[in-house]
Formats: sequence, C-alpha cells, structure tokens
Amino acid sequence: MKIGAELYRGKAKSVLDTDDADFVVMHFRDDTSAFDGEKKEQLARKGEVNNKFNAFVMQRLAAGGVPNHFERLLSSNESLVKRLQMIPIECVVRNITAGSICRRLGVAEGMDLNPPTFELFLKNDALHDPMVNEYHIRSFGWASDEEVARMKSLTFRANEILKAMFKDAGILLVDYKLEFGRFHGEVVLGDEFSPDGCRLWDAQTRNKLDKDRFRQGLGGVVEAYEEVARRLGVSL
Ligand code: UDP
Repeated sequence: MKIGAELYRGKAKSVLDTDDADFVVMHFRDDTSAFDGEKKEQLARKGEVNNKFNAFVMQRLAAGGVPNHFERLLSSNESLVKRLQMIPIECVVRNITAGSICRRLGVAEGMDLNPPTFELFLKNDALHDPMVNEYHIRSFGWASDEEVARMKSLTFRANEILKAMFKDAGILLVDYKLEFGRFHGEVVLGDEFSPDGCRLWDAQTRNKLDKDRFRQGLGGVVEAYEEVARRLGVSL
C-alpha cells in the first residue's frame, strides 16, 4: 500500500491518503493544543505514546464489542485505520465531574455521577464546540436517529470496558470524548482514545494523569501519559 498526501491536518494528528479506498494513515504528531488551539506546544514523544496507547485501547474496545477504525500499527507514530466518513459530533461520558460541566452547572470537581452523564457537542472550534442535542443533530442532518442511538450505546459500552481496564491499573476514568464515522454504512468508532481526550486520575491520590496537566500548566505531561501506559501494560 502506498502512502500519499496529507488529506487533513488536525491539531495533534494528520490523516494521510493511501492508494486503498478503504484505508488512511493516522499520523500522531508531538503537537499539543488546548482551549480550541489557543495554547500550543510540542511535547517530545507524545505522538509515539499516543499512537501506541490508542492502538492498545482500540484493540481492547474491538474485543469488547465496540467496532472501530483501528487496523494496525505502521510505525512508532503512525497507524493504519479504516477510511471513515466522520460524523461531526463529540460524544462525552462523565463518571466524575470535572472540566466544562463544573463551569456550566456550577458544581464542584470530583463528584461521582451515578448514573454517568452523556453529552453531545458539535465539532466546531470557531464556535467552541457548542453543546447540541438529538434534535439539532436530526434537524441539521448531521446524523440519523439510528446513528445517534448507536453512537450512544457504543459510547456507554466503551465506558464499561474502559472503566474496568483503568480500575485494574489503579486509575479512575473521570470522563472521555469519542467520535464516530461511517464505514460501508456502519457506525464505527474513529479518531483516537488517548490521555489527550479523556480525564484519568490516580485512584489513590487523585493526581491528574491526562491533558489537564497541559491545560493547567502542571508539567510532566508526557511522563504522566507514559505512567498510565506502563500501568496498563502498553509496550512503548
Ligand atoms: N474533550 C476532547 N476534545 C474536545 C473537548 C473535550 O477530547 O474538543 C475531552 C476532554 O479531554 C475531557 C472530556 O472530553 O476528557 C470532557 O471535556 P469537557 O467538556 O469537560 O471540556 P474541557 O474542560 O476539556 O474544555
């Protein structure tokens, strides 16, 4: 398979074309951004850590019944993935309060949420990813009702698999964001799962082991990602 031009350049990853209609290459860069791209930095090794972390998690999710685009690792910072038609919606599950829900609802960080919450956001940096509901998604034609129902059930299935996986590593899965796309008519999980798109706290100390270290200028960002990877048994 031949790797071609860059099709899309996101804030931390690039998507490269291939000569196969069913596949593209996801290139994880060291670029790190927060606050809709306002804060940016290069963090050495982050691309490699996230690529390997994502590969590990996506394989666990597939084994647990969450179909996704991951095919195989190609290099330290590249993976072969299915070519999806992406749905421009972010699905967020929260097990513990943190981040935007605290600002929006005026609640303290660190409250257990039973049952977990489910939120939908439109993927649009210029508008700061506004929250939307099923009706907006239907009226604007971003996805069908069936697709939204499938995204929701897969996002919750992922929660069961991932909560247990992190618990065994002494880590709390606070919240996370998933993005889906269509592959030959089926809704499958796309994008990535890495500490860039979730919140992970040490179960004992509640130390942050995710991108909040970067957002809040706490330092040791990649070191924390590597610590999580090591505890999960991801080979770096
Ligand atoms: N998230 C993300 N990309 C986004 C927005 C959120 O990966 O564009 C992740 C974020 O890392 C967190 C979860 O989704 O794990 C919930 O984010 P929240 O709504 O609390 O927003 P934030 O506080 O990150 O602005």
